[in-house]
Amino acid sequence: MKILVVEDEKLLVKGIKFNLEQEGYSVVAAFDGEEAIRLAHDETIDLILLDLMLPKVDGFTVCRTIRGFSNVPIIMLTAKSEDIDKILGLEYGADDYITKPFNIREVTARIKAILRRVNPVQKGEKDKLIISGDITLDYNFRRVVIKDNVIELTSKEFDLLELFMRNPGKVYTRENLLDIAWGFDYPGDVRTVDVHIRRLREKIENNPAEPMYIRTKWGVGYYYKND
Ligand code: CA
Repeated sequence: MKILVVEDEKLLVKGIKFNLEQEGYSVVAAFDGEEAIRLAHDETIDLILLDLMLPKVDGFTVCRTIRGFSNVPIIMLTAKSEDIDKILGLEYGADDYITKPFNIREVTARIKAILRRVNPVQKGEKDKLIISGDITLDYNFRRVVIKDNVIELTSKEFDLLELFMRNPGKVYTRENLLDIAWGFDYPGDVRTVDVHIRRLREKIENNPAEPMYIRTKWGVGYYYKND
């Protein structure tokens, strides 16, 4: 597993690199935004740890640019808690954030959690291509195609859709979905789930008001069509 660490404070990079290498990851570092985008584009990276305050190109722009060509998990390092909605939202699409100053153990724990979520332990080979109605979900390329059109999904929307498509008919409560897609320690509330489901429906349903794929189980939660 290769992790790209993007941060201009060289001592901090050194500390993070040391700790991640102890955990068995290989680490490449970028000290400014331009280099980060170049490395994310040219190398095979499994996860990016991205500082917000960077020389040349700031972390927001780096995140958005990388999202233009890759769904690689991104954890944002930020000193400003008010940016969190933006960071995790559609505009930038990071997977998680860590507020500075942080504990290196916390960073390692978050990285592990996200990599586990994105690359679950292979219990037998997972289906790489899931097809349901007009929707084709390509797990390896983290890509969704509907009637020959590639659908732009955020990382969370993709995770949710994958979960639903792998388990048609299974009813998930919003708490279930929050735990599975966001992780147990996510501080947000269940409305986050509704917001993401709504956006996902807008992208994949013919008529989002009468969803055919992701259906509502009134008073319980959501399930994927099973017919
Ligand atoms: Ca910095």
